Amino acid sequence: MHPSARQYRPDPPAAWAGGLLTIDLGAVAANYRLLHDRVGPGTTCAAAVKADAYGLGADRIVPVLAAAGCRVFFVAHLAEGAAIRPLLGADSTIFVLNGAMPGTEADLHGLGLAPVLNSMDQIARWQELARRLDTPLPAALQVDSGMSRFGLSDGDVDMLMARAAPLAGIVPLLVMSHLACADDPAHPANLAQRTAFLRLRARLPRAPASLAASSGLFLGPDWRFDMVRPGAALYGINPTPGHPNPMRPVVRLQARVVQTRWIGPGTAVGYGAAFIADRPSHVATLAVGYGDGFPRVLGGRGIAILPGRPEVKLPVIGRISMDCLAVDVTDLGDGPLDAGTALDLIGPHNPLDTVAAAAGTIGYELLTGLGARYHRAHVTDDAVIDDMQKGSSA
Ligand SMILES: *Cc1c(COP(=O)(O)O)cnc(C)c1O
Repeated sequence: MHPSARQYRPDPPAAWAGGLLTIDLGAVAANYRLLHDRVGPGTTCAAAVKADAYGLGADRIVPVLAAAGCRVFFVAHLAEGAAIRPLLGADSTIFVLNGAMPGTEADLHGLGLAPVLNSMDQIARWQELARRLDTPLPAALQVDSGMSRFGLSDGDVDMLMARAAPLAGIVPLLVMSHLACADDPAHPANLAQRTAFLRLRARLPRAPASLAASSGLFLGPDWRFDMVRPGAALYGINPTPGHPNPMRPVVRLQARVVQTRWIGPGTAVGYGAAFIADRPSHVATLAVGYGDGFPRVLGGRGIAILPGRPEVKLPVIGRISMDCLAVDVTDLGDGPLDAGTALDLIGPHNPLDTVAAAAGTIGYELLTGLGARYHRAHVTDDAVIDDMQKGSSA
């Protein structure tokens, strides 16, 4: 048994849950293959599975990616790497993007993880461990090509390469950097970062190179180098904003009706009386709120969809509460909306990126913020494969 995020998730049975989160593992695999095929055989397609695979459950996503052929994984934290290491074979590499916090180098190495070395300090501490163990240790080297977040600056590279044996004790598996503006192909920072990356890379010992994540790999072949590191696109987020999404949607979020009521004109709904009905209205209270990571800012802006009635956009009215939200279902007609009915908050007719944009954020934040109270069903090719396996691994 390995520690995983799942163990501290309540993740109730479907019948108990107010919200249902359906994660299409078949779509994740198809998205991986699409990206893999797009970059072609000369470029390794890795996968970013940090933050519990963008909130979708690394314990379920990682084996699917491995089965699809992925052998290189990126997490942010040591603990995330430790959680997925037992899911992967010895032929897989797990890079820890943040590197090792001081004093955790031996743990990181002992767990079979490779740090991304972002600073002179991280390099020194990794070399120190290699000296102690008397063996060279694998790592990626990050250079700062213009994002000013992680990686060696030009000055750092000067200092490093002035040494007699700059990378003594290090097996450099990768030289990498990260693009700040890849979702905007016209942004001049892209070319500037590529130029800086080429310059810095040329000054370091030869190693495979990686610059692009999801959006970067869609900038074209010049951006792909030896390895690409998509995350978001695997999970259905559009890597080409402003253009049709080439990826398959992965996530469906549904909220259950708790009760419905008819209210007259002038009647208020929710905290702050922020919504006042201007007509006789049929209002449904759904069992998902901001405590489930559904953004409070979507009060008055979000929509719900009744499956089978996609032409009727049901507006989220009033303020979103911690545990519930209200939807105006009047336009569905007088038909009953039974308690327990599941309405889509993210689905085929209200896609993730659109919902995120309405909330003033991005799909990344919405996904990673999804809460612990949903019933999570991992499906593949529309067959629910999940509950049985979940039961046996509990
Ligand atoms: C998160 C991250 C990725 C993946 O980015 P996406 O935009 O989700 O594809 C790749 N590389 C680094 C360094 C990252 O931090």
